[in-house]
Amino acid sequence: MSKSLQAIRGMNDILPEQTPLWRYFEGTVARLLDNYGYKQIRMPIVEFTELFKRSIGEVTDIVEKEMYTFEDRNGDSLTLRPEGTAACVRAVLEHGLTGAGQPQKLWYIGPMFRHERPQKGRYRQFHQIGLEVFNIDGPDIDAELIVLTWRLWGLLGIRDAVKLELNSLGTSESRGRYKVALVEYLSAHLDKLDEDSQRRLKTNPLRVLDTKNADTQAVLVDAPKMADYLDDESRIHFEGLKARLDAAGIPFVINTKLVRGLDYYSKTVFEWVTDKLGAQGTVCAGGRYDGLVEQMGGKPTTGVGFAMGIERLILLLETLEKVPEEISRQVDVYLCAFGEAAELAALALSEKVRDQLPNLRLQVNAGAGSFKSQFKKADKSGALYALILGDDELAQQVIGFKPLRGQGEQQNIAFDALAAHLATCVVQG
Ligand code: ATP
Ligand code: MG
Repeated sequence: MSKSLQAIRGMNDILPEQTPLWRYFEGTVARLLDNYGYKQIRMPIVEFTELFKRSIGEVTDIVEKEMYTFEDRNGDSLTLRPEGTAACVRAVLEHGLTGAGQPQKLWYIGPMFRHERPQKGRYRQFHQIGLEVFNIDGPDIDAELIVLTWRLWGLLGIRDAVKLELNSLGTSESRGRYKVALVEYLSAHLDKLDEDSQRRLKTNPLRVLDTKNADTQAVLVDAPKMADYLDDESRIHFEGLKARLDAAGIPFVINTKLVRGLDYYSKTVFEWVTDKLGAQGTVCAGGRYDGLVEQMGGKPTTGVGFAMGIERLILLLETLEKVPEEISRQVDVYLCAFGEAAELAALALSEKVRDQLPNLRLQVNAGAGSFKSQFKKADKSGALYALILGDDELAQQVIGFKPLRGQGEQQNIAFDALAAHLATCVVQG
């Protein structure tokens, strides 16, 4: 196929054989979030470029080099969203959802776009589920966000494979004082810093802590620590969070180098990481952003949230072989009919059965075919049972009922009794 007719590098089709796992994952998360009282919000995929510059920060990797930005026909600069928080804050402000200090617990799901180097676990179109909470200041809500992800890992069977890393970036005042100390220290070791870190020292010094460069990491060993610069407010918040995680029995490690890639974080930052996926080990990450809403033109409104990468979590489920077997079976019953008269009767009968068993996954053969070919399709569909309707059965107003997975004998069931019979042998979700 010519290249222009292929999908864009780093942007993947999710094929029919993969969608059951996606739906299982998304369904599990959606139910969990319902249970914790989060409400879904859906934002557009495209926003004004300015929104991301203002919120994410001009000197972040995302804004500097990862955004899909283009001019539309009006000459407006638009960007495919690289993350969800900015648009969520925009929507909340635009619709007054946090007016008069009203709390909001929101979540969203959808594709995000970043022009990165595609590799396992890193794509140019990828999917996130994100949560954002507004106007709840205390560490209790930071803890809830972490507790519910811990519960999710439990539901998915991956708790053993993920680790929680935690840090506090303090209030903007304490972070400001820390920045001064860090810049002073690093400036004294300028010649030992890699080029990127030298640049970041000027533009976004906290990001130096994030370096992968071994020489720079060596310099950082003796660098001032944020923990020593936290003011009382930040410290009390952080202690409150840790106490709650202890109370909930959630293990964590403090990572003083955890700063996150976006500019807007304050106080709590955290990441759930795994060592099972190679370099792309962060499956969920977030933190508190108490200054962001005001920075975007709203009234002072605290915020805290996180986003998880769906592709990475799907990869993790596959790697750990935690894909539940039953999700790939999408057909309970496959109906085969032979000849025009039987097909007509089969259609009427199957619709009657659907009326009575709305959750039954009943596939009716389409495209006619010999006994052999229909039976092959029935088997391949994964169905537990085949129903067989030919002229003989039709004459007697019965249908052949044949277990396909070795559960019992074939028998004939009267049309009228079919729904009741299926109800006894198919577990309905
Ligand atoms: P990383 O350090 O891996 O680049 P990030 O800090 O840029 O991640 P966030 O902006 O915090 O990531 O996004 C939250 C989550 O979304 C990440 O932890 C990850 O699971 C997922 N994610 C981010 N970028 C990508 C991508 N390009 N492809 C797939 N998943 C991604
Ligand atoms: Mg990134």
